[in-house]
Amino acid sequence: MQTLLSDDEIASLNVDFEASQPSDILAWALEKSGLEKLAIASAFQTEGTVVIHMATRIRPDVPILFLETGFQFAETLAFKQQLAERLSLNVIDLVGEYSNDRQEAEFGARLFERNPEMCCEINKVRPMFEALRGLDGWVTSVRRDSSPTRADTPIVERYDLEPGNAIVKVNPMANWTKPQVWRYLKEHDLPHNPLYDLGYSSIGCAPCTRLRFAGEPERAGRWAGIAKWECGIHMNESAQQGTIEPTSSPG
Ligand code: SF4
Repeated sequence: MQTLLSDDEIASLNVDFEASQPSDILAWALEKSGLEKLAIASAFQTEGTVVIHMATRIRPDVPILFLETGFQFAETLAFKQQLAERLSLNVIDLVGEYSNDRQEAEFGARLFERNPEMCCEINKVRPMFEALRGLDGWVTSVRRDSSPTRADTPIVERYDLEPGNAIVKVNPMANWTKPQVWRYLKEHDLPHNPLYDLGYSSIGCAPCTRLRFAGEPERAGRWAGIAKWECGIHMNESAQQGTIEPTSSPG
């Protein structure tokens, strides 16, 4: 399966980038990688704001893909609008095939409780895959220290959309820690989603996100109480090998 980068090139880049700063990795991705059709995927969390800020200093109109599931917090949507206006962002809202009303009519009420795998598949995985088809690569804000499911995240990887179609995934924040993220926001006077001030530490769709309690892991408030850690878009090797239970198969 061919991407614009060979497996050997990706392996070499990961060695080179292990000690690099996100801004350097983004400069490579946006200016030197040869990945001309590149987009950032962001839920406008803190690390996403860092990536967006760094990337738009290099390429101001880089597309920013946002999953508008219909279940986002009002605060998240307002923050997205605030940051988009402040940084003149090129945000593209990704909307699934089903409106929330149509989803309820076809699959019943509160699908996110009864079958979150299907709900994520409809509202997150499929729209994201649809947007990624036709791109050379995409940039995420995944941090290794945010979750065991993300601990092995490489900085550059091949991302399989379907048999015969792979693109490049760049994770420039993989090595950064949460304190580094907050320090960057402060140093650059960047805003954050006000939900963090209420005690949320990882923010996704409202029905599947709760406050984080003292001592809990960063992503404990996501799909709390059920054996689900990811929506299915960020499936790393440990999840695929079954050492950490996967959620759904992308695509
Ligand atoms: S996070 Fe929850 S509400 Fe959002 S798409 Fe997944 S199951 Fe549905």
